[in-house]
Amino acid sequence: MIGSEGGTRSRRGGPARPRPTRVTHPIQPLQMDAATGLLAGVRQVLSPHWDARPPGVQPELIVIHGISLPPGQFGGPWIDRLFTGNVPADAPASLRELAGLRVSAHALVRRDGAVTQYVGFGQRAWHAGRSQYRGRSACNDFSIGIELEGTDTTAYTEAQYDSLAALVALLLATYPTLSSEHIAGHSDIAPGRKSDPGPAFDWPRWRALLNRHLEGVR
Ligand SMILES: [Zn+2]
Repeated sequence: MIGSEGGTRSRRGGPARPRPTRVTHPIQPLQMDAATGLLAGVRQVLSPHWDARPPGVQPELIVIHGISLPPGQFGGPWIDRLFTGNVPADAPASLRELAGLRVSAHALVRRDGAVTQYVGFGQRAWHAGRSQYRGRSACNDFSIGIELEGTDTTAYTEAQYDSLAALVALLLATYPTLSSEHIAGHSDIAPGRKSDPGPAFDWPRWRALLNRHLEGVR
């Protein structure tokens, strides 16, 4: 279970509860409980694969990933199963090597744009592995990891671009330590080891959508 103290307490130390932040979204209005780092109105599949960020460390980086399980197939149960530690040793051959892995991401955007959340955004999900961003290693400590269901070479969907933009706009509005300047692909923080989200991810197109969402919440 995600602890009730996920994320920070009131940032100014006062008694006021953080106000939920809302972003209009064509598929579903995304809403965040800043105290728990949990989204309202999205599918929650809470992962046991997380722990607390180091003391005093806030999310400062957003990492975009791509994943599909089995590789190249969309819509099945295996991403949920991987992030919840439910890949059995007798899984299909292409998945067997994932059995026993303890990994997660904060959220997944499916091909239809639907969001699943696995870990509260204030907590440390285990998505980046060995990694470095601008000279700072162990990116899990200070980042939020969002997976897109896809492959490096399959065009991501319009719904995914839009949903990811809405979610990132909401994160930027919720966590003042995040910045639209500090958003990277997994391949950027683990070059040579990771290639996702791959050349299929159209950064300029997605950046334009993000800017539109940011204007909407300003
Ligand atoms: Zn990745």
